[in-house]
Amino acid sequence: MLRRTATEVQVGTDPRWAVRLTDLTPSQADLLPDLSAVDPPLTDLLTQAHLTQDAEVPVPGCPAAVDARIWSLLRPSADGDVVVDARTQRVVAVLGLGPTGLGIAVGLAAAGVGTVLLDDEHPVRPVDVGPTGYRWTDIGSARAAVAARLLRDVAPQVSTDAVRSPDVVVLVETDVADPHRAPVLVSVGTPHLSVVVREADTVVGPLVVPGQGPCLRCLDLHRTAADPGWPTLLDQLRGGATADEPAVTAVVASGLGTAAVLGHLDGAVGWPPGSVLEVAAPDAIPRQRTWAVHPDCGCTALPAAP
Ligand SMILES: [Zn+2]
Repeated sequence: MLRRTATEVQVGTDPRWAVRLTDLTPSQADLLPDLSAVDPPLTDLLTQAHLTQDAEVPVPGCPAAVDARIWSLLRPSADGDVVVDARTQRVVAVLGLGPTGLGIAVGLAAAGVGTVLLDDEHPVRPVDVGPTGYRWTDIGSARAAVAARLLRDVAPQVSTDAVRSPDVVVLVETDVADPHRAPVLVSVGTPHLSVVVREADTVVGPLVVPGQGPCLRCLDLHRTAADPGWPTLLDQLRGGATADEPAVTAVVASGLGTAAVLGHLDGAVGWPPGSVLEVAAPDAIPRQRTWAVHPDCGCTALPAAP
């Protein structure tokens, strides 16, 4: 609560939900921080704006509790706790655990995703050490094993054991998206987020929800239309060595990737179909571009994923 004048109080600062209470008497304005002492019309107004909380609700004790509070403010018809609690039943697989993949896995675990499956047996290298999690003492150990430990450090309840097929797969790849991987996910209807770490930038997206927008094959068909040499380059680039990622792009890309997956799991409007964000070193300012479905691909003829 912020006092604007003797008779005006502002509640909240985010323009999406903040309200100003005007024409108060000075004594009402004085009493407002203690809602139990204020007239019902005023407290009703704040309740309608979803700016009040039951006294017995504990102070947020984990990152997911902060998300729950924001969901309650953004979507008045939904209980933020219910939205965030549903994450505990979700399974997300992260394939490729360089700094960006690790950052996404840690972000999902910290946000309350119940099961995060990890896949990458490459050893942690000195260049992987940095802000998304790997430490000097991890060098030489298998990335997946180190990542599992780091996930439990931020989210002791997280499971990294396969219980069922994942709700979302995050494919973190080097230089290009392997054209043979994603079509399998499209055919079984599994939503997947593509993350490609390139020479000096990282491309986050698209989040492919089969049947609802362009798939990764659509992107390659567009690239081939623009450059007939693309398939030859793609062949040489795929399966490349483990990428060396600038720390700043890894931090930004992992935050964006985490948000894309959580938005999908939470049922948010989220990223538009075909939307990608390119994060280049050194400025790391995300640049958005949008890809369309390619008419020759046929992927949208598939039944839409739930
Ligand atoms: Zn397609």
